[in-house]
Amino acid sequence: MESYRIAVLPGDGIGIEVMHAAAAVLETVQRRIGRILQLQWLPAGAQHYLDSGVALPDATLRHCEQADAILFGAMGLPHVHGADGTEIIPQIDLRMHLDLYAGVRPIRTFEGLPTPLARPEAAHIDLVLVRENTEGLFYARGRGDVRGDDEVRDTMRITRQGTARICEFAFRLAERRAARSGRRGRVTNVDKANVFASMAFFRKVFEEVAARHPQIAADSGYVDAMALNLVMKPWTYDVLVTENMFGDILSDLIAALVGGMGMAPSGDIGDRYGLFQPAHGTAPDIAGQGKANPTAMLLSAAMMLEWLAGRSGDAALADGAAMIQHAVEQVFASGQVRPMEFGGTDGTAAIAQAVAGALRPAH
Ligand code: ATP
Ligand code: MG
Repeated sequence: MESYRIAVLPGDGIGIEVMHAAAAVLETVQRRIGRILQLQWLPAGAQHYLDSGVALPDATLRHCEQADAILFGAMGLPHVHGADGTEIIPQIDLRMHLDLYAGVRPIRTFEGLPTPLARPEAAHIDLVLVRENTEGLFYARGRGDVRGDDEVRDTMRITRQGTARICEFAFRLAERRAARSGRRGRVTNVDKANVFASMAFFRKVFEEVAARHPQIAADSGYVDAMALNLVMKPWTYDVLVTENMFGDILSDLIAALVGGMGMAPSGDIGDRYGLFQPAHGTAPDIAGQGKANPTAMLLSAAMMLEWLAGRSGDAALADGAAMIQHAVEQVFASGQVRPMEFGGTDGTAAIAQAVAGALRPAH
């Protein structure tokens, strides 16, 4: 039987709780699709840093390199900081080390779950934010130019290579989505080209890449106007592509559009490796209480299977992904469960159990 190695980094806080939910669902999925998903649980995170002095052990990193895919919970704890005063954020180191340059954050509404927006069109939001993960303003991380006690500078770095590859990624994603939906695809670039030279350059490279994909509609918006548009008319967008910092901010905004962080999956994808994790953090305010909505984690596991299917050519894995997505749709549409995040009473285990129980062969 075909077998796949999954490096599992549950991390801290609710990362661990939602990872158990994902493991339970994947356990059922592997039996349904006749594949072995070997989950290898690995230490990393803020608690591991407190225990051992290392946030991301070399052995964990090596297992990640050797695995077929990486499933990640969330990492970080309040008041746990590294030597330079910044938070312990091993996922950023992993992104850099494995060159996971594309931060892919899809959001969609689910029947049966309300969105915070009043307009009827808001019931049908379905878009993907593609965040550049390796440069932009995050390039400044660990490189702050501290000038005495009076001034600090952080540098935004935009390169042709980094921009071209993230834009290419966005257009190829739009092409796949268009093929599936039958609609013309669209990529919207989000920048601040009216103020910053770096952002004008990002737009220039975006337009060069867009010219190579004439079948996909392409446009650009300034990040301030896009913050407005994404609340006013999010249902009009398809794929968004943007610099690292803007992507960080807008991914929380779009998660809110579909009900909260517990609904937003993500993938950090490069040419060789893929890491899949909920877009949320460790949520110290609700950790340890079984309240976390595991949907984002479950949908991230589905994204992982879909990505693995694309790489391996093993269609059973795509069936597994579809199975999870349909099960999630079904448990919400039927009203069987409502997450606490939506004012309901169902916690992590109840939602995971309902989804596992709703897994059916896709066809
Ligand atoms: P990070 O710095 O890692 O991005 P953060 O400080 O932005 O983390 P999160 O941990 O993502 O914060 O939490 C933001 C808010 O969303 C918190 O109120 C948290 O309780 C809530 N939240 C996050 N994930 C979930 C979830 N899976 N289910 C329910 N609520 C969640
Ligand atoms: Mg956040």
